[in-house]
Amino acid sequence: MFEYIGAMHMHSVYSDGSGEVSEIAKAAAEVGLDYIMLTDHNTLRALKAGYEGWHAHTLLLVGCEINDRQNKNHYLAFGINQAFSTRLSAAEYVHKVKEMGGIGFIAHPHEKRTHMKEQPAYPWIDWDVDGYTGIEIWNHMSEWMENLTEQNKYQSFLHPLRTIVAPQKKTLKLWDELNLKRKVVGVGGVDAHAHKYNLLGFLEVEIFPYKVLFKSIRTHILSQEEIKKGRSEEAVERAKKIIYSALEKGSCFIANDYHGDSKGFRFFAEADKKIYQMGDKISKTNGVKLKINVLNSNAEIKLIRNGRVIESWEDKEASFTVNSKGVYRVEVYLNDKAWIFSNHIRVGV
Ligand SMILES: [Zn+2]
Ligand SMILES: [Zn+2]
Repeated sequence: MFEYIGAMHMHSVYSDGSGEVSEIAKAAAEVGLDYIMLTDHNTLRALKAGYEGWHAHTLLLVGCEINDRQNKNHYLAFGINQAFSTRLSAAEYVHKVKEMGGIGFIAHPHEKRTHMKEQPAYPWIDWDVDGYTGIEIWNHMSEWMENLTEQNKYQSFLHPLRTIVAPQKKTLKLWDELNLKRKVVGVGGVDAHAHKYNLLGFLEVEIFPYKVLFKSIRTHILSQEEIKKGRSEEAVERAKKIIYSALEKGSCFIANDYHGDSKGFRFFAEADKKIYQMGDKISKTNGVKLKINVLNSNAEIKLIRNGRVIESWEDKEASFTVNSKGVYRVEVYLNDKAWIFSNHIRVGV
């Protein structure tokens, strides 16, 4: 499998971000990301302006973040060639994205503002809607804002990466429950805006530079097909297709790479001499073996079935013989910090 590492969910000057698209791409290339997915609010202007494609060794893909009339139900949509009116309901835009052959992820589903009540939160409200590809299970800026208190604010401003702890338990629980009914892919987002603030009247700070956030929550995709870095329109389309179809399949994992290099993490299953990847479904339950590899000997691996930890190991690798049907995924901790979240392998459900 080829592994490609990218960051998703960011805003440029085409909406409420402070960075030009070319600057954002440059920051991603400097950090060594293979791809980034731009999501300006309700617009595809960056696409029309021709920014989609290779910027040094980074592929920039353009989607958008859609919201409804109440500015709720934020939806990250990709693989579409037209943006939508904010007068549509969540049910309508989720449906339209799918109809256009695109993919979409519910953004910051349970966003809240416990400590900053004056700042609105933008959670997903309309849970009756179906047809979305997946959920953003971890969002850097949502968590950063949520964790910000009067007591820790200086630390939080100084250490934007250290203050990120883990995805919300509520989101993980819902994600596991949804997967018992159908595949719902998990992805991670940075939600970068690089908003500029003037501190004390003379000191301009950025919350936070794109380059800083590009070191944290990343979505790693796995693909059988290698991405070729050709500059032609066909080559870009092919590369884009590889990334979008891996995301659609759930052949991906989310990692906070600030804690450690998660490249090489693998979670797969063996059954009947066949290999199944994250996002796959295995119809039978007997003779299924789950395998986990992490290229770090200090890792704590937790295997989760239907939302419950059923086994854990402090090792670089682990295997588990399945004896009951369910949705299985893996969490990995490094020095007690939440590090890697796999997508599910669904067995017999
Ligand atoms: Zn949003
Ligand atoms: Zn956003």
